Amino acid sequence: MTRPRKLAAGNWKMNGTGAALAEVQALLAAHPAPGCDILLCPPATLVHRMAQAAQDGALAVGGQDCHTGVTGAHTGDVSAAMLAEAGASHVITGHSERRTDHGETDAMVRAKTEAALDAGLIAVVCIGETLAQREAGETLAVCKTQLAGSLPDRCTAANTVVAYEPVWAIGTGKVPTLDQIGEVHGFLRAELVARFGPEGAGMRLLYGGSVKASNAAEIFALPDVDGALVGGASLKAADFSGIIAALEAS
Ligand code: PEP
Repeated sequence: MTRPRKLAAGNWKMNGTGAALAEVQALLAAHPAPGCDILLCPPATLVHRMAQAAQDGALAVGGQDCHTGVTGAHTGDVSAAMLAEAGASHVITGHSERRTDHGETDAMVRAKTEAALDAGLIAVVCIGETLAQREAGETLAVCKTQLAGSLPDRCTAANTVVAYEPVWAIGTGKVPTLDQIGEVHGFLRAELVARFGPEGAGMRLLYGGSVKASNAAEIFALPDVDGALVGGASLKAADFSGIIAALEAS
């Protein structure tokens, strides 16, 4: 299988109101014909407007979470179908902040991923160990369990992206060594191939956790790193642009 285009994905988390759409315009202006795929996942309130701003542009828009159902009595929740209708093409599932803040289990993440695929969205499924788990030597075992439990059987290279995000690296400025990232990505690739065959070989595998323009190039040079999921450094076009440029050059 030919390698898919690399992906620079930004997670704005609970940041951004209408004024922040200027960053999208700046990003589109800086990358009119990007050499990689670009995805921004703003708060749900901005999905529709961002999708409109990105129309015909080289930028995809995604949600940060979705409910397992399509409609129903679930105050405050958003369904995958609603995100799709608003203009999203992707949705993040299983981000560690959802797992921690909302007690999301692998089974819930899997059900949300099923809902995303049902709605025709590409799921960006996040997994990763805590610092305590890494220090206990449990990183690969934790990632194996989360990967197996969070991905439905019908995942393909086209409908699923996996993001390895060590919890201790998210928003902290701490980044695993290149050897540590390489070890986990190589392990995850083998797991994906064992379960999904050629589809697993083609599935994009992102690294996430304190990626910046200054450390992006060395991370993107690793085999089995097909891009990044970026939090803080995706909020400003100038910062995210540097990461995109590193991915284009990789
Ligand atoms: C994230 O939120 O998924 C993330 C990786 O955040 P940051 O880049 O800020 O560490």
